[in-house]
Amino acid sequence: MADSVPRIITGDTIGPVDSTAVPRYAGEATFARLPRIDEVSQADVVILGVPFDSGVSYRPGARFGPSHIRESSRLLRPYNPALQVPVFASQQVADAGDLAVNPFSIDDAISAIERGARALLERTRFVLTLGGDHTVALPMLRAVRGPVAVIHFDAHLDTWDTYFGAAYTHGTPFRRAAEEGLLDRTGCLHVGTRGPLYTDADLSQDVELGFQVIPAPEVDQLGVTGMAERIAQRVGDRPAYVSVDIDVLDPAHAPGTGTPEAGGLTSRELLATLRSFARLNLVGADIVEVAPAYDYAQITGIAAAHVGYELLSALAARKAAP
Ligand code: MN
Ligand code: MN
Repeated sequence: MADSVPRIITGDTIGPVDSTAVPRYAGEATFARLPRIDEVSQADVVILGVPFDSGVSYRPGARFGPSHIRESSRLLRPYNPALQVPVFASQQVADAGDLAVNPFSIDDAISAIERGARALLERTRFVLTLGGDHTVALPMLRAVRGPVAVIHFDAHLDTWDTYFGAAYTHGTPFRRAAEEGLLDRTGCLHVGTRGPLYTDADLSQDVELGFQVIPAPEVDQLGVTGMAERIAQRVGDRPAYVSVDIDVLDPAHAPGTGTPEAGGLTSRELLATLRSFARLNLVGADIVEVAPAYDYAQITGIAAAHVGYELLSALAARKAAP
């Protein structure tokens, strides 16, 4: 390791900056104060920022998501008591920084994201993407070389066809992914959808694309355990990609986003559900639509940072399982 910042070391694994030696608010904001990718000889899991929001249909600003999530992740500590797992000890996690993508051409940006993710996946087994708007899920799904079961947390379906004639937007990634054969149509779900649609055809068309739906109003009846069970039954041991649009959370839990809808999940419900993914075969994940200009006191940034932490914890717990 090149720098002299004191870090938590476990065997060959280089962990976060030691916050008993360097206060949490000091120094560079990588995700969870983890090493940069150039500071490690190999990485099992990589955090990748994609500051891109040219695909949004309402409030812009998710291009500032990656830096906001990183800045909001300084308080994450290395041991997850709920899963009883040291998150950064058995797997090398590193922060690959941001992809520099073209804000003026969506086509160009999508190609660059796919290329960048493919290059990373030649040297790591898992990329956790920090968006950016939901457009970035499409090139990430291309890069993981599906078909994969997608577990999609979102207030919205994101399987619309076009918007103002545009095929590639933050409302269309899963329609395009289905058309490109990237989805295992026997294993996909939307979780947390709610709010008004254009017509009832939105839902029937969506079913044809391979999605089961756990709408937000059903979460009350199912509870977290029931929801986790429904997801596990649907996904089984298929390779699974988790896509978390932060607007799946209620605006009270995540105000800093572009297309808020009332009546969403609590952060406690979402985090507990993600914790149950230790039993799944995860191959990739993203956290998108964090738009800090509408955030207050880092509420949304902290929620997103914890979403990332629980996903990394699920990977660590699966690795530690007998
Ligand atoms: Mn959404
Ligand atoms: Mn979305």
